[in-house]
Amino acid sequence: MDTNKRPKILMIYTGGTIGMIENPDTRALEPFDFDHLIDNVPKIKMLDFDIDNFQFEDPIDSSAMNPEHWGEIAKVIEDNYEKYDGFVVLHGTDTMAYTASALSFMLEGLDKPVIITGSQLPIGEVRTDGEENLITALQIAAERDEHGQAVVREVAILFQNFLLRGNRSTKFSAGNFDAFRSNNFPPLATIGLDIQYDTDALLTCSRQVPLSVHYNMCSDVLYLDLFPGIQQDILSHILNAPNLKGVVMKSFGAGNGPNQSWFLEEIKKAVERGLVIVNITQCSNGMVLPNRYLTGLELSKAGVVPGHDLTSEAAITKMMYLFGKGYDTAQVKKRMEESLCGELSV
Ligand code: ASP
Repeated sequence: MDTNKRPKILMIYTGGTIGMIENPDTRALEPFDFDHLIDNVPKIKMLDFDIDNFQFEDPIDSSAMNPEHWGEIAKVIEDNYEKYDGFVVLHGTDTMAYTASALSFMLEGLDKPVIITGSQLPIGEVRTDGEENLITALQIAAERDEHGQAVVREVAILFQNFLLRGNRSTKFSAGNFDAFRSNNFPPLATIGLDIQYDTDALLTCSRQVPLSVHYNMCSDVLYLDLFPGIQQDILSHILNAPNLKGVVMKSFGAGNGPNQSWFLEEIKKAVERGLVIVNITQCSNGMVLPNRYLTGLELSKAGVVPGHDLTSEAAITKMMYLFGKGYDTAQVKKRMEESLCGELSV
């Protein structure tokens, strides 16, 4: 690769606070267009690489994100993959970790940076965090090593001081500039005076195949958050929902659930009917250790799949991806325990 060539970056604007503007009547923040965003960051012109942009027809608040939107982002990346060295996706923070996780699975064989960023304050506001996030994301997307290879070759979230693996990230604060965490995996880079990459943490080889985008995400899935006092009839109703294929169960501590026999019976019956139930912890740090406590062991014996240290965002989007691939129950269960693109420590 020619190391002297100016990198070309495509910026994809989907919406989110970063580009929002206050509606004078309601005072609520509403998505606005790309030109408004760029007019507020004149520094972009100082970067020594080429930047083009693509705007979603209707920029959205990311709470309106859905798998079709993920498909639209993936399509823009696929259509422009050969033309650009890296991609920066501007996105609202609310569902950013879901989009980052989903794209990490959908973009099979990804070998270029896809850096997702946004901000907590609109870019037009004096104290905005958007300008710094945007500039740093662009710099990371353009970063290449001495061989001209992209330094980051995966989907990542850049927010304030850290670059985090997309499928390890979670939104942690609704109010702080430091809004994202990757509780079970080290940051891919730390942003200070310099950008310090952790080369051991970065994905070195992707799946060694050309980019191939998987578009079909199956939404016949659900979260089940356990709590003391959970009722049998309600649980049974949920687990018997028509079309339901998979459940991400958020359990206590290291993967434990209530020890009442009816609870285990309901779970067992659901598994026998072919439902995939993946067990992740409600704790923000640590992992499911299915053999540590009797209650966890019973869940495992009932056929529940340990989700190890998957984030809830990665667990649900991975399930959507695997069912979308058309895998049967046994294949989905097997792959939920394998690391496809760095989402799980095994
Ligand atoms: N509601 C906004 C969104 O997710 C919040 C943000 O961007 O920070 O689009």
